Amino acid sequence: MRLALHHAVLLALAAALALAPARGWGADIRILNRNDSGKGFNDPTVVPPVGLNFGTTRGQQALIAFQYAATIWGATLKSDIPILIDSAFVTVADDSRLTCTSTNGIVGYARLASYASGGEYPVPGAAYPVALANALRGADLTSGGAQIVARFNASIGTQGCLDNQSWYYGLDGRESSSQDDLVSVLLHEFGHGLGFISFVDAPTGSFGSDPPAIFDFHAWDVAAGRTWEGETDAARKLLATSVSGLALAGPAMATDVPRFLSYLPRLSVDVVGLQNPVAFAPADFSAPFAGGGAVVAAVPLDGCSALTNGPDVAGKVVLIERGGTDATGGVCRFWDKANRAQDAGAAGVILFNNQPAAGLITPTGTPPLSIPVGFVTLETATAIQGQLDGGTVNAAFGSSSTRGGTDASGNRVLLYTPATVVNASSVSHFDTTAYPALLMEPRILHNFRQDLDLTPATMADLGWSVVQGLSLAVAKALDPSVTPGANASYLVTVVNRRSDPAGDVMLDLALPAGASVLSTAGACATGVFPCSLGTVASGDVKLTVVTLSIPKPAESPFVVSASLTTSTAGTGDVLQSRSSVPLASSGSGCTTTGGGPAPLLLAAVLASLLRRVNRWG
Ligand SMILES: [Zn+2]
Repeated sequence: MRLALHHAVLLALAAALALAPARGWGADIRILNRNDSGKGFNDPTVVPPVGLNFGTTRGQQALIAFQYAATIWGATLKSDIPILIDSAFVTVADDSRLTCTSTNGIVGYARLASYASGGEYPVPGAAYPVALANALRGADLTSGGAQIVARFNASIGTQGCLDNQSWYYGLDGRESSSQDDLVSVLLHEFGHGLGFISFVDAPTGSFGSDPPAIFDFHAWDVAAGRTWEGETDAARKLLATSVSGLALAGPAMATDVPRFLSYLPRLSVDVVGLQNPVAFAPADFSAPFAGGGAVVAAVPLDGCSALTNGPDVAGKVVLIERGGTDATGGVCRFWDKANRAQDAGAAGVILFNNQPAAGLITPTGTPPLSIPVGFVTLETATAIQGQLDGGTVNAAFGSSSTRGGTDASGNRVLLYTPATVVNASSVSHFDTTAYPALLMEPRILHNFRQDLDLTPATMADLGWSVVQGLSLAVAKALDPSVTPGANASYLVTVVNRRSDPAGDVMLDLALPAGASVLSTAGACATGVFPCSLGTVASGDVKLTVVTLSIPKPAESPFVVSASLTTSTAGTGDVLQSRSSVPLASSGSGCTTTGGGPAPLLLAAVLASLLRRVNRWG
């Protein structure tokens, strides 16, 4: 009797949980390793740890990078249904879509496993990526199957495939100029799989036999002032190659644009034969672009010591050459050069390359200066100097009238619609005029913000429930199970999605009986919990790698909980996360079985997106 009553209470509790609104944490995004033995994620090549990636083999490091990117998205979106990503790291020979040459190639792609549509969704005529459909329904339409398929190119850096490139497997975003940051590319590709994708066939403007994607209900015809899903194929065909005629619209986007996009700085000089505004790169320590004046060359030209023509510099724009050594024989830094001009009263600085036919460099340094600083090519500087000899040159620092990458409204972001269709890139990306660069642009760029910039706003407009505050996600690294008596590592990722900092942030862990922390690395390096993360700035992503000793015997499922506290708690915060995995001996355990009603409408595979390499210069 007592047992029966207990059972009844449990059943009642289970029913209450099933009816509860979306739980108080993010999304559980899991990587399913689909590689064969010895390949991809199972590549046994021994490699040294790099940038918080503790994997000891090439395959382990690739898998850990995938899992880390999954935790960043997991701390950003909310879903009661686990999101499974069917993943593999494959060679060009394994996957014909990953074409590659020495100078150009496809580094990876992600596609929807399926979509759903119907009257039960917010926009009945739209195709919803199944991961979003699951989140909206609170039910698993895929019955434990994957919702996203991701394939990445393991051939990069081998002969004939982007020979001089390589993946950067570190988790700290510190790739070199010849590396592609795997985590950044994964964040981008997962973004496609979660819904940042149009169903249009750009060359024809047609949706074929599929409904338009929910993304297409936000693709905005700038000239006509309406979304494009109801327009004719011919109209969409024109918009897909309109260069600046198609944008992405939505209320969350409009709110977030001022936070992530800036006015484009411009530099103009009145040199005969030079096209204005000139090509330049603003220094990251530059003041906002404004003002200007007559141009004068620094003496010495490399600005590596105090300027001897100081009286001529005051109120002027100073031309300074790259390179040289300082008084101690050390590297003469951009910031020091510009700071010397500022000390002499300059109104601005134009740094220039000392190498011909070289690309633009973004000068970096701290703290910010109070005058505008830009970097130009040697060819531009030579033209300026040519006119300066016996003449005058005036320079003007200014900015664009709208934020870089927006349409005239200033709150919609242009989509990538080059005059010639670029297969798999046109339409389903933000335009390359976005400033600063955005995660969902078609090209691989460096220095992405790991907080996903404007992509979460897009997701919110598509229908996702998006975390707005401080958030975290904890995930078991490598195998989706733990082995009693062995060690196990976890990734604990904290993301501040607020527009302001979170103060006095403390991270704590709750472990099963008998488990203990062996070591930690990253944001919490002390190995002791609760652990202080201090102030977490807006947009910051902080990773802690935790290695646990697993008792023998161990509880199953093995549940590790992570939680946050902050002195500046907000209503949008998600302050807890949980990882639940089975013991290794109980099977793979990485999928759940449904047993519920059959999925309603699941179409076949479609809408694959390929990400092309298109590097600068
Ligand atoms: Zn893409």
